[in-house]
Amino acid sequence: MTRKETFNFSSGPSVLPAEALERAGAEICNFGSSGMSVMEMSHRSPIYEGIFAEVKTKLKKALSVPDSHEILFLQGGASMQFSMIPMNLMGEKGCADYAVTGNFSDTAYKEAKKYGTVNLAASSEDKNHTYIPAQNEITTDPNASYFYYCANNTIYGTQWKYVPETGAVPIACDMSSEILSKPVDIKKYGVIFAGAQKNMAPAGLTVVIIDKALAGRELPFTPLMMSYGLMIEKDSMFNTPPCWNIYILGLVLDWLESRGGVIGMEKETVEKAKMVYDVLDESRLFNACAEPGARSNMNITFRTKSREIDAAFVKEAEARGLLNLKGHRSVGGMRASVYNAQPIEGILALAEYMRDFEVKNRV
Ligand SMILES: *Cc1c(COP(=O)(O)O)cnc(C)c1O
Repeated sequence: MTRKETFNFSSGPSVLPAEALERAGAEICNFGSSGMSVMEMSHRSPIYEGIFAEVKTKLKKALSVPDSHEILFLQGGASMQFSMIPMNLMGEKGCADYAVTGNFSDTAYKEAKKYGTVNLAASSEDKNHTYIPAQNEITTDPNASYFYYCANNTIYGTQWKYVPETGAVPIACDMSSEILSKPVDIKKYGVIFAGAQKNMAPAGLTVVIIDKALAGRELPFTPLMMSYGLMIEKDSMFNTPPCWNIYILGLVLDWLESRGGVIGMEKETVEKAKMVYDVLDESRLFNACAEPGARSNMNITFRTKSREIDAAFVKEAEARGLLNLKGHRSVGGMRASVYNAQPIEGILALAEYMRDFEVKNRV
């Protein structure tokens, strides 16, 4: 199949804007008048330093990052932040609050226990992570070094619709699968992080946005490469950053800006997700997995009453060019990831297919 005949619903690495990929393709051997590929440049060369600074400026603008916060371009995936956050923030108080609303926050919660006392401030495990706890279901400790949560649960298809109130306790948030899909009030957060491969760039880049006031509190054994303080001091260039991925992020940010930035994206995202949820709500065959108030606008999880029908749905979808609709192995069913770069045509094709499939599989 060609790209034009397919829509990719992968949860990550996931679809990137075709415009950004085409530009990268056009520039792949020779960037500007440099005579070389961005992949071949020294990260300390003036031309690459220019690209780096520009991408940072674009991201700062796209997310309205205040001067109190620093943007870092790191490696190690979102998962490395599960360790970096406690190593850097657990600090003198030695305890932290975690809300566990899915697989990734659960991994982060368990990892943090290596570095201090960790309170389970809230959990949605009782209903297999199909909902998001309300503010009055969260038990916060005013003495915690930080409060941690995952804004969008990629696997379960749930999304926080509010920023938890934690008083003076700084918030650390995993935004891997929703960053750049809506405006964020960055000032409310101590640390935001996101693996790039969901909504920003190829895998290999992790974006961290950190309140500079939180730097320099790392535990003494923290590896150099995992110190926020050092990375801030060196502007993410203590060692070689993921140069190519940062450049691609720049192309994606240009595309984002041409579509009205995060405000434009939020409008598109809400519309796209609603189209799929509307099909689910009208359907007698499919059921949405997440509770209505917690439904993710990025990862839509659903299923039929039978595994066989689920499998047939995924298989026939592939034949139609609707790719990667199988749910995560821990949840089963189906999952349609409708990130920023998922075109509306992909949603229309999915909705049409779901209706056709239901007619053929009447219950
Ligand atoms: C994908 C994902 C991760 C893991 O990202 P890696 O870069 O593979 O470590 C963590 N959190 C969330 C919310 C994700 O969607």
